[in-house]
Amino acid sequence: MGAVVDTLRLTAEGAKELLERGDVSSSELHHAYKEAIAAHDEELHCFLRTVDDADGPGVPIALKDIISTKGVETTAGSKILSGYVPVFDSTVAARVKAAGLPLLGKTNTDEFAMGSSTENSAFGPSRNPWDPSRVPGGSGGGSAAAVTAGMTPWALGSDTGGSIKQPSALCGNVGLRPTYGTVSRYGIVAFASSLDQVGPVAKTVRDVALLYSIIAGRDPLDSTTVELPEPVRVPEGDSLAGVRIGVPTELNEAEGIEPGVRAAVANAIELAERLGAELGECSLPRSVRYGMPCYYLIAPAEASANLARYDGVRFGLRSEGASYQEMVDRTRDDGFGDEPKRRIMLGTYALSAGYFEAFYGQAQKVRTILIEEHRDALERFDVLLSPTSPTVAFALGERAADPLAMYLCDVLTIPSNLAGLPGLSIPCGLSEGLPVGLQLIGPQFGENTLFRVGHALEQAIGFDTVPTRWRT
Ligand code: GLN
Repeated sequence: MGAVVDTLRLTAEGAKELLERGDVSSSELHHAYKEAIAAHDEELHCFLRTVDDADGPGVPIALKDIISTKGVETTAGSKILSGYVPVFDSTVAARVKAAGLPLLGKTNTDEFAMGSSTENSAFGPSRNPWDPSRVPGGSGGGSAAAVTAGMTPWALGSDTGGSIKQPSALCGNVGLRPTYGTVSRYGIVAFASSLDQVGPVAKTVRDVALLYSIIAGRDPLDSTTVELPEPVRVPEGDSLAGVRIGVPTELNEAEGIEPGVRAAVANAIELAERLGAELGECSLPRSVRYGMPCYYLIAPAEASANLARYDGVRFGLRSEGASYQEMVDRTRDDGFGDEPKRRIMLGTYALSAGYFEAFYGQAQKVRTILIEEHRDALERFDVLLSPTSPTVAFALGERAADPLAMYLCDVLTIPSNLAGLPGLSIPCGLSEGLPVGLQLIGPQFGENTLFRVGHALEQAIGFDTVPTRWRT
């Protein structure tokens, strides 16, 4: 073994430098992360499975188990997909492979990415590295917790209503939900196709920008993708001179935002001003009030269509039945957990003849209003700022029996997702000893601005991503 690698502190960029200087070999690096997994994953359960050998010369990576990987079981956290081994790579898996990043393993997720705590995973919850009695957020809690715990330098998640931003906030690291259409969904287990976007999680904004540059851009296999209008810029510098930051009242004054979260965000606003940004209030009047109800019609409607393909014939689990229909019914009954079942029923109802216009059609109109509202605010400001999550990480079990309390985790991340906009979450301090996330929302294709603002604030905030209990 060459140099000792402190995976808790090492960034992906730092790891890349070690490799380039020849201080460590890629197999040593892979080994160091595998040791961290061996040391912490029994407690935190971030991985659904690991991969033994480094299959590339670069910095290792972990992928949320919603991302199809050739030859590596992909379950989306669901029993109905157990045993499913894709015969092809999703485009994002192919791109990280082509960039030489060896796969460490597949990370835990709420079943079909439906949830905000990973407690809906059919394979048991993940835990928060800051306090294992608490959730890491979700649905991409496995990826976020693995980054914080030094089990991988970076990871990919997917964000439909907040599943990259919210777990990053709760675990104290950086997560990007990209502009809809900039990252291919080919080979991603579909939840709500008009919202799903894959994106990076890492310890720093620069790492997130680097990983985004690897996965983003048009893919002929996904006709909803486009080429980026400008190359990704890995951010430098700490000035925010000339940057206009809008503070939407509704997203910052929403009911249920904890006082400690408010305080940490207020501190970040002050720092932004000191770095030269121009701050101003603005309004997204319908975002908080109508964002959630709109999302919980559109996402389940799309999910009910996407999940119809799990019939026991083509993928994973098959239960016995005397007839074809009985086999399908039993497979679905045994294979889907409560949350997917709840959403399939909700979505099927919202799409049914006689109710379609009243629910789905109405939600689409509300979505258009939210798009316009964000567009107007982003004409006056370069980015919008708010907390990512109203609360810090909560205890396992605290919201599991109350779907509505769980849905409220995403009240601040959902509106801009419905508008197709990019959002970056960075850690901005601690409340009750737990990380608080700051959400920066940009216009379509505004990732470079998010990276610039996020990086400058990150330097000024100086957040230590190592959980307090592990600091020496
Ligand atoms: N928590 C939200 C939901 O349950 C968002 C999940 C996600 O972004 N995948 O739908």
